[in-house]
Amino acid sequence: MRANFDVVVVGAGPAGLSAARAAASGGLSVAVIDDNPRAGGQIWRQGSHAGIPRALSRILDDLISCPNVKRYQATRVSVPGRAREIIVDSEEHGGVAVSFTRLVIATGARERLLPFDGWTLPGVTGAGGLQALIKGGMPVRGERVVLAGSGPLLIAALATARAAGAHVVAVVEQAPWRTILPFGLSLAATPSKLWQAMRLTRGFAGTRYWTDSVLTQARGSDRVEAAVVRRHGRDVTLECDRVASGYGLVPNVSLAQMLGCALEAGAVTVDDLQRTSVQDVWAAGECTGIGGMELARAEGRIAGLAASGRPVPAALLREREHWRGFARRVARAFELGAHACVPPGAETIVCRCEDVTFGEISTHASWREAKLHTRCGMGPCQGRICGTALQTYFGWRAAMPRPPLAPTRIGALLEAQEPDDAPL
Ligand SMILES: Cc1cc2nc3c(=O)[nH]c(=O)nc-3n(C[C@H](O)[C@H](O)[C@H](O)COP(=O)(O)OP(=O)(O)OC[C@H]3O[C@@H](n4cnc5c(N)ncnc54)[C@H](O)[C@@H]3O)c2cc1C
Repeated sequence: MRANFDVVVVGAGPAGLSAARAAASGGLSVAVIDDNPRAGGQIWRQGSHAGIPRALSRILDDLISCPNVKRYQATRVSVPGRAREIIVDSEEHGGVAVSFTRLVIATGARERLLPFDGWTLPGVTGAGGLQALIKGGMPVRGERVVLAGSGPLLIAALATARAAGAHVVAVVEQAPWRTILPFGLSLAATPSKLWQAMRLTRGFAGTRYWTDSVLTQARGSDRVEAAVVRRHGRDVTLECDRVASGYGLVPNVSLAQMLGCALEAGAVTVDDLQRTSVQDVWAAGECTGIGGMELARAEGRIAGLAASGRPVPAALLREREHWRGFARRVARAFELGAHACVPPGAETIVCRCEDVTFGEISTHASWREAKLHTRCGMGPCQGRICGTALQTYFGWRAAMPRPPLAPTRIGALLEAQEPDDAPL
């Protein structure tokens, strides 16, 4: 099956939805493709235990009222197709070759997970992963949770876990007070963020917020029973029912890379109008660098306007600059320290898809060599987890991703070749 649009946006988070609305308001035909069952991306993730945030519902109302917008949810971009074409796959539509005049990539970011002894035990997740599970309906009432890693996502996870009735035993933050404190004070320059921080940390007083500390181990027999934290040179054991750990975010750039877009410091390179290095391909949101929802929205609007050939107001460019400043302050405050980048023990599994230990991987000199000899990074996640961890430990650069971006049915690739221009 084939479909054709003026503007195709990949990703229905704040950046992608903002881009789609801006492009659609000019009357162009627009498609928004997203692999989650419901729109919203990470921050506006919908679920049985998460209402629709007001900002999301406004933007969705606008898109629903536009007859020129087609939304594909639970649809994954699998491979680039011919020129100006991507192949997508979903249960609802099967394989579809979607062609475009202009493309906006808004594929967001994922958590940086750093393996530690016991991280494969049941009950251990990412910090954002725990949030997603709770929003999806997983009960945590009465459970004792240890949150660990780094960055504002730990505070968002704290708020979600507490609201769901969990008891957060401790938040273990690798960054030191000397960088977090000035960041906290600087929130005065962004009142909406100050208000958000106050809201998320309401009732925070009784919670242990341990800075300069690192989670080193999860213990348990059938599932996690305790977390071990290295704090001021000592190991402290915290009994718990869940451990959720994440060290900030990393941009999702595989699709952009596959289309030939240039990267810088692991993010898609864009110019003032969010144009990538590839003609007629724009990028917005956290795939261009980690910066939060407000920056993602501003970038999305700029990309949507520019991709539809309309002028971008100077005020919007100033707004983006304002939030880029905020993003720089977050990055400075929560920069990973050497103590957080200490690799795990030799026996710790690093590639969970292929069960490869750190000891097996560390005898190799590069990501490519380790991959060839151990199969690390060759499972369903294609190295998104272990590749990011190994880059953090060794500075290894992941090889170019190879199609498909995710496991894809051969039937979907064949269906996409069928000569059918029927509207979907
Ligand atoms: C797990 C997690 C939890 C987070 N929770 C919070 C929070 O509680 N509060 C907060 O302030 N910030 C949170 N953030 C940060 C948040 O991601 C950003 O602030 C904001 O959502 C970025 O918007 P975006 O549009 O750039 O990307 P996203 O919101 O990530 O949206 C990108 C979308 O693209 C989709 N996508 C990616 N690749 C493909 C593909 N190949 N095919 C189809 N679709 C694709 C993704 O599934 C996603 O729906 C979280 C981040 C993560 C990773």
